[in-house]
Amino acid sequence: MDFYSPIHEVKFESYPSIWVKRDDLIDPFISGNKWRKLKYILTEAKAQGKNHLVTFGGAYSNHLLACAAAAARFGFTCSAFVRGEEVDNEMLFLSRLFGMKHSFVSRTDYRDKQKLFDQHYSLDPQAYFINEGGACEEAVWGCAEILDQVHADYDHIFCAAGTGTTAAGLLRAVNESRSNCKLHVVPVLKDQGATHQTIASYVEVLENVVIENDYHFGGYAKTKPDLLQFISRFTSQTGILIDHVYTGKVFYAIYDQFNKGQLKADARILAIHTGGILGLLGAKKFFPLNPKKPL
Ligand SMILES: *Cc1c(COP(=O)(O)O)cnc(C)c1O
Repeated sequence: MDFYSPIHEVKFESYPSIWVKRDDLIDPFISGNKWRKLKYILTEAKAQGKNHLVTFGGAYSNHLLACAAAAARFGFTCSAFVRGEEVDNEMLFLSRLFGMKHSFVSRTDYRDKQKLFDQHYSLDPQAYFINEGGACEEAVWGCAEILDQVHADYDHIFCAAGTGTTAAGLLRAVNESRSNCKLHVVPVLKDQGATHQTIASYVEVLENVVIENDYHFGGYAKTKPDLLQFISRFTSQTGILIDHVYTGKVFYAIYDQFNKGQLKADARILAIHTGGILGLLGAKKFFPLNPKKPL
């Protein structure tokens, strides 16, 4: 179950080159950090002899799709509690094709995940609980491995944070490398300290982490015209898709910090592309059509 992802040098407009760890290329469906997180979760489920994954997510969750695809690939069945009223979309459609069974639950019921699991699966000895977004210690181990194949010395590493699990893994690896590298974490929701708290629950030494709280664009899955325009420019000029929920905000932060002089032109910068680009299918309506070609 091992995957490799390359590092690409990326030159965008007149900015200095940066490097991108292309975890988005690991797999189209078990994408990016979701694969990193699932790797040891699935190992643990197998070790406990469980063959039914039960997990949780919103209707556009990259985690649900990754879980569904990984379950199908590695010999598990898979069920998911989906937050909110029953809907259908591209992500749920794909996860259904991979065999995932969906149960839609109210936002109130969704809050107590352990209770949902106990109510519905306490009689299923094969059921294995996987938290929303795959957040757990095993996920942190997997995410620390993102930097295993990164040998150059970077001054700054940038990544997105939802739960903060990926950032926690990266920080462990940065701390172990004993370099002067700073890990810049971009929370994609209005943070108010939650990301820092999550990271601190997994990692003791926090000197090398900087939480970048200015790039959430209004909150989870919220966008602004500025961000959408940036995504179009970046994708059309580099050939690398980035999305409006996670990686778009990370790359925006990097170039904004170049503009403001917070990043020096000769700094070595690594952006972690955590994948998740199929979520863009839900954002089609936000992007303006290309202007008509002149006759
Ligand atoms: C889920 C996801 C994240 C957030 O990861 P956390 O470990 O929950 O912080 C970041 N980027 C992408 C593309 C994701 O799908």
